[in-house]
Amino acid sequence: MSIADNLLKYKNELDAVGVKLVAVSKNNPAESALEAYNAGQRVFGENLVQEMVDKQAQLPADIEWHLIGHLQTNKVKYIAPFIKLIESVDSFKLLKEIDKQAAKNQRVIDCLLQICIADEETKYGLEFDEAIEILRSEEFENLKNVRIVGLMGIATNNASEAQTKIEFNELKILFDGIKLSFFRKDDFFKEISMGMSSDYQLAITEGSTMVRIGSSIFGKRTIKHWKA
Ligand SMILES: *Cc1c(COP(=O)(O)O)cnc(C)c1O
Repeated sequence: MSIADNLLKYKNELDAVGVKLVAVSKNNPAESALEAYNAGQRVFGENLVQEMVDKQAQLPADIEWHLIGHLQTNKVKYIAPFIKLIESVDSFKLLKEIDKQAAKNQRVIDCLLQICIADEETKYGLEFDEAIEILRSEEFENLKNVRIVGLMGIATNNASEAQTKIEFNELKILFDGIKLSFFRKDDFFKEISMGMSSDYQLAITEGSTMVRIGSSIFGKRTIKHWKA
């Protein structure tokens, strides 16, 4: 199947259940993303700043770019002018830098707090109590140029279905708790980004509002030469 065929299959399936598709074009050339764009996709995810900046310059301006990989504070400035959603906020320091760069660009940048739900210690993400500490702090209240619109999580790689289900469920429970405690009246706090090619259906069952799908749409990744 072509990229367009794959894209439409997922788009139709996800539209039917009201879940947003983030097409993860990382490691694939801009032309591949353009194929998906021409089939109707407007939301794209990248995990490296340089790769996103290069593609953003080549591709149509109405694309919504989501950063889904670990973001170094010194690179926020490169994406601050155009980024639609930073899904991978994994420290307060990073959030403060995003706020600063957003202010410089006279905009508000939407963010998700990335929560550590996986077993692996290598995965980035905030612990549950770290996320709550940020939201509770006075310093956070004073950040006027970032808006937290939800949470993101990555389940343990190759875990059993039962384990993956537990991890997604933990993220959903944390989301519900944070919603009640901090964003009860804020309609914008509504996103739970969880689910990738291998586990998106399970993620949706557990309450995902946004899935990040790469390899099932774009196939085998073709470029490996990007610098971080
Ligand atoms: C690569 C990546 C995805 C997409 O993974 P696939 O298995 O290719 O669908 C989703 N989320 C994050 C954070 C990623 O880095």
